[in-house]
Amino acid sequence: MSQHFDLIAIGGGSGGLAVAERAAQLGRRVALIDPSRLGGTCVNRGCVPKKVMWYAAHLASAVHDGPGFGVRVQADGFDWPTLVAGRNRYVKGINDYWEGYVTHEGITHITGLGRLTDAHTVEVDGSRYTADHIVIATGSRPLVPRMPGHELGITSDGFFELGQQPRRVAVIGGGYIGVELAGVLRALGSEVTVVALEDRVLWLFDPMVGEALAESMREEGIQLNLQFEVAGLERHSDGLALRPRTGEPLTGFDTIIWAVGRAPNSANLGLDAAGVEVAPNGLIKVDEFQNTNVPGVYAIGDVTGREPLTPVAVAAGRRLARRLFGGEENLKLDYANVPTVVFSHPPVGRVGLTEPEARTLYGDTLTVYETSFTPMRYALNDRGPRTAMKLICAGPEERVVGIHLIGDGVDEMLQGFAVALKMGATKSDLDDTVAIHPTSAEELVTLKVPVRRPGATTAAG
Ligand SMILES: Cc1cc2nc3c(=O)[nH]c(=O)nc-3n(C[C@H](O)[C@H](O)[C@H](O)COP(=O)(O)OP(=O)(O)OC[C@H]3O[C@@H](n4cnc5c(N)ncnc54)[C@H](O)[C@@H]3O)c2cc1C
Repeated sequence: MSQHFDLIAIGGGSGGLAVAERAAQLGRRVALIDPSRLGGTCVNRGCVPKKVMWYAAHLASAVHDGPGFGVRVQADGFDWPTLVAGRNRYVKGINDYWEGYVTHEGITHITGLGRLTDAHTVEVDGSRYTADHIVIATGSRPLVPRMPGHELGITSDGFFELGQQPRRVAVIGGGYIGVELAGVLRALGSEVTVVALEDRVLWLFDPMVGEALAESMREEGIQLNLQFEVAGLERHSDGLALRPRTGEPLTGFDTIIWAVGRAPNSANLGLDAAGVEVAPNGLIKVDEFQNTNVPGVYAIGDVTGREPLTPVAVAAGRRLARRLFGGEENLKLDYANVPTVVFSHPPVGRVGLTEPEARTLYGDTLTVYETSFTPMRYALNDRGPRTAMKLICAGPEERVVGIHLIGDGVDEMLQGFAVALKMGATKSDLDDTVAIHPTSAEELVTLKVPVRRPGATTAAG
């Protein structure tokens, strides 16, 4: 006989945990299915271990800046295994927390791979479980394009398994995961080459940000090869090599990391059996309420491809549970203006539209403000990344529709400004806010002269 639940979540990552937790708190019988340690990509192979390593990289860079401020420090190498051991302990603590929390909330944790046999039944290792509502939250995995030698490269998953520091690394991909891993490795002392198909890194971000980051990466000693199309990976006598579509190979790497995107985990889920519609690229199709085409079956998080970020999966999951069980019938996640940060060196922050996007939507009514400066943090050093900021405003009222930041501290700076943008703040609201001095953030409320006024056309636009 099968066990029956009000809700089954397939996947114990950011989205699955969120929907299960909220449904249980609303008094429902809930099961959560996952084959591995709870927490999903973010906890085990994403945001958390990445940020721990980013802090290590940040500290390693700061050591070089000490003498300028009279702090006598000497970097005495870097111990990768110590960092990895500490990071893994921290991650295990979060896994244990979730295990305990799920039990405490009365959620049934089923270990294994879930597969739908119909719209209300999930099979795990031969056992069947039924539910009124089934939420698919199976996330995504790194993409590795099939080409000669592709197996010689690792992915971000493999990066987090490295027991020793790689010395000469090639990162394929200039998106957010590529630039983050490259920045960490370089700051910790590895020689790093980044190759990317596009003509700039972070091509989905505002052009200002991509250009400023490329400059900082080059200053840090990262070799940046843009418009480089990889045709294959090879083993040469001096190490691994990247063979481009045209031109000479780049050789001598001990590690090559694929960072060219992620694919949804939607195969082998029995979606056919349940009649759930899937796009040709594997993304599960959902409406604005996370409903699939099959009543009672929902999808959230990376497997839907909409803003693949942890807080988005969490917010969608919580809202879905409240809609199904909390009497909030019209509750849904507003996907507009989701803020995001890239933990590059220096970090990047974005909320709202890029300038090209804003120009498409608002045409010539845009006013754009920009600034670029060396933050006080590096005042006594002869090196240090510059900070750049861009504020994009639309219409005669100058409503803020885009904020783009790169520089030290912008990762912590953006959240509050994202609230303001979401609430519809105008440039004069920012002007009316008294600055906090001396900070970098104050520059955003003291921008005076627009670099592009309404009616002006630009290269960026
Ligand atoms: C290197 C890296 C860095 C990142 N950094 C950030 C960051 O800084 N900030 C941020 O917001 N986001 C970041 N992300 C993205 C973030 O991790 C994801 O957006 C988030 O984890 C998506 O949550 P999810 O619930 O959709 O999927 P996941 O967290 O991936 O969870 C899916 C779960 O489903 C399980 N599963 C898969 N198939 C089945 C099955 N058949 N049955 C049962 N269980 C199954 C998996 O084991 C997994 O535990 C990063 C991702 C990566 C790879």
